[in-house]
Amino acid sequence: MSSWNELLERNEKYAETEHKPQPYLSELTGPLPQYFIYSCIDPRVSVEQFLGIETANAIIVRTAGGRVKDNLNDLVFFDTFSQGQTVKDVIVIHHTDCGYTHNNDEALKTTLKAQHPAHSHDIDQLNFGTYESGERLPETVREDLRRIQAHPLLRQGLKNNSKGYLYDIKTGKLAPVSLDA
Ligand SMILES: [Zn+2]
Repeated sequence: MSSWNELLERNEKYAETEHKPQPYLSELTGPLPQYFIYSCIDPRVSVEQFLGIETANAIIVRTAGGRVKDNLNDLVFFDTFSQGQTVKDVIVIHHTDCGYTHNNDEALKTTLKAQHPAHSHDIDQLNFGTYESGERLPETVREDLRRIQAHPLLRQGLKNNSKGYLYDIKTGKLAPVSLDA
């Protein structure tokens, strides 16, 4: 385990020895991000590693559970900002043994209310979208794919090119999840 100060020292060394200046957006000539990927915040799920992705080639949004719901704004923003010219595929990846399979919204809200009793009403409005058990996988992937399909502001081309997968943290393999199953 490294202390934060040690990491800051590493950053200084990195900046002096390894860092290559990145282009400003106005200087950018490519490659541009082709994949927009939703995946879990879980450190065991290293998308760059298991897909062998060059960072410039993908945008990876990491959320609890890899849930799409609160973060479609990021996709709408990026696709609008880039005038629909870069992203070709939207990918949703959930994974086995996710923390979301071991938690449920009601229990989380009960804990929060005990810590913040004055905010009970606000806590009732929260929606974590937890899975409650592993048995809900991969239906959770379909839920997020449906959310993408239903979004009113998303290009049809992106809806047509949205794909879902379940990642197995033991084997390292991705299993496709079809919307119609
Ligand atoms: Zn997870």
